[in-house]
Amino acid sequence: MNDSILTLTGLTRDFGAFRAVDGVSLFIRRGSITGLIGPNGAGKTTLFNMVAGTLKPTSGTVALDGKDVTGRSAEALFRMGLARTFQIPRPFKRMSVIDNLLLAPPAQIGESVPGALFRRGRVAEQERALREKAQEILEFVTLDHLAEHPAGKISGGQMKLLELGRALMGDPTVILLDEPAAGVNPTLTAILIDRIEELNRRGMTFVIIEHDMDFVMRHCDPVIALAEGKVLFEGTAEEARVNPELLDAYLGA
Ligand code: ADP
Repeated sequence: MNDSILTLTGLTRDFGAFRAVDGVSLFIRRGSITGLIGPNGAGKTTLFNMVAGTLKPTSGTVALDGKDVTGRSAEALFRMGLARTFQIPRPFKRMSVIDNLLLAPPAQIGESVPGALFRRGRVAEQERALREKAQEILEFVTLDHLAEHPAGKISGGQMKLLELGRALMGDPTVILLDEPAAGVNPTLTAILIDRIEELNRRGMTFVIIEHDMDFVMRHCDPVIALAEGKVLFEGTAEEARVNPELLDAYLGA
């Protein structure tokens, strides 16, 4: 399935006797900005957590670019090019914005060079390269002027941009974004969307959980709706907007 960057098959997650995600089978189209919608409690976050490696599925599989990655850790997936952000960003607040980027897991190449004579030199060189990369990413997400600020002192919208920046440190092919627009002022939302679309033009795939239907309508195609742990709908945002079953699911929530 070359067209599918992520393939979920029968993905299921139980919490005790409660089935939060119930046999979800999906393709995420390579190069898409896919919207994931559905009422509260539909299982969107649980699905993200299973795909991103922070929660193990009860059953079912996840394949990234055709490779079975079910049950791999978030860090392993990050190194494989799958990154996710959180609805409520959680930066290390006392650390600077740029140091938050430098904490991202990959590229610790120094550790894998076995007994290298010039190890210290190499590590220093890698650190310089990483810092340069972080600096470029900060420019890209328009936070370069805040590089040395404590991450706890930036605004909620800037934290979302920082999260996107952290995700970019892994050179991802897929980014899962959890409510990027929630609680963010329109100016920063516009910047965030512009950056997402630029990355998408460069080939990056996005899966976005978003409640703001206006956002979904304008920026997501296709749209997948979950309700009660199951896929209720797949189609365009416009089709989602007028889908009676989906409307019922929201009203019933
Ligand atoms: P959504 O993101 O669509 O709002 P969630 O994936 O957060 O939905 O939750 C789906 C269902 O699973 C909800 O009923 C929620 O209460 C339940 N749930 C989520 N996480 C847990 C957990 N760790 N323990 C027990 N129930 C959970």
